[in-house]
Amino acid sequence: MKSWLNISADSDFSIANIPFGVFKSDRLAARVGCAIGDQVIDLKVLHVLGYLENLPFELSDLESPSLNAIIARGKGPCRELRLRVQKLLRSDVPDLQRKEHHVAQALIPQAEVTMCMPVEIGDYTDFYSSEQHARNVGMMFRDPDNALLPNWKHMPVAYHGRASSVVVSGTPVRRPSGQLKPDPEKPPVFGKSRLLDFELEMGFITHPGKPLGEAITTAQAEEFIFGLVLFNDWSARDIQKWEYVPLGPFLGKNFASSVSPWVVTLDALDDLRVAGPVQEPAVLPYLEYEGHGHYNVGLEVDIVTPDGVATTISRSNFRHMYWNMKQQLAHHTVNGCNIRGGDLLASGTISGETPESYGSMLELSWRGTKEVKLADGSLRKFIADGDTVVMRGHGMTAAGDRIGFGSVSGTVTCD
Ligand code: MN
Repeated sequence: MKSWLNISADSDFSIANIPFGVFKSDRLAARVGCAIGDQVIDLKVLHVLGYLENLPFELSDLESPSLNAIIARGKGPCRELRLRVQKLLRSDVPDLQRKEHHVAQALIPQAEVTMCMPVEIGDYTDFYSSEQHARNVGMMFRDPDNALLPNWKHMPVAYHGRASSVVVSGTPVRRPSGQLKPDPEKPPVFGKSRLLDFELEMGFITHPGKPLGEAITTAQAEEFIFGLVLFNDWSARDIQKWEYVPLGPFLGKNFASSVSPWVVTLDALDDLRVAGPVQEPAVLPYLEYEGHGHYNVGLEVDIVTPDGVATTISRSNFRHMYWNMKQQLAHHTVNGCNIRGGDLLASGTISGETPESYGSMLELSWRGTKEVKLADGSLRKFIADGDTVVMRGHGMTAAGDRIGFGSVSGTVTCD
């Protein structure tokens, strides 16, 4: 499949991708668009010009400042919408490409727009589904010989996070304050977190699910998944360590989480499927699944210093998951818990087998016992004020098409 647009081979947004996002500009109010190469295609304009005829979308869905309205239409309509946009951009389809005045209205350089928070997130859940990450944390904080807790291989463990503080890429992240306990022998103190960290994750956005009380099976799960984003689950390790017993993460996590602005559909990732690990012991029947539910998406994390020096400090892959999204969604709803359109379910930190592939500073610095060296010679155990954390991810299809997520970045500020 080729496009009549000139798309660079290293662009995340090939014609095989067509992710959805919300953008605005000096002259345009926030609305829905798709990324193609270094351009945005304005779906409101396509609708007005008649290119989205016979699709079940109203103009109001596309001039909305979030993707929730199109997500609410369900998997089938969203699939048709993406395929229509893709078709209009194909070199063998003359409809749009021959109408220069329409092209001029519908396509806008990404450099001229501001990306907005793509989804109004109702509920946010964070899983803990990478085995190597769970092992690393267990080894550091509990017992190296029993790193995984007894439940870990029987269920995709998760906690309910905070949706209100999920922000779009580019939003500054203020270093949080809270209770710290630097000296285990002394009472806690109040102050700025000293152990600020990132977590390399992917998150998926749901379509409206079933009514309260009804479970979604692993076989049905993909019908309820709209698409995925890169996700940085910022974490204050010192606040987290003191607060988390017995009810789990709270203020060490909920000050900010950053998402990439383009939502890559599950359909676009279809060619990147790979087999997951053999799950031993065998899972309970409701967690069994058919087909491949893991995805080969290479992931990278950079720290960019205040002087603009970038160092890639982690290279991981979304395939390093023990539990996949089908299992996560089946587990989340097995008790009858309902999901809604625009919910965000995140993977948990994605760490591979090798130290270079660890997805947090906690692991890269092994709880602050090692220093991570940056390209300018400076050293980090955790994230410093003024640092920008940038995450990227992409995969390649068998046909050689690049399916990427762009990036999610956030700069740490302090006052
Ligand atoms: Mn997390």
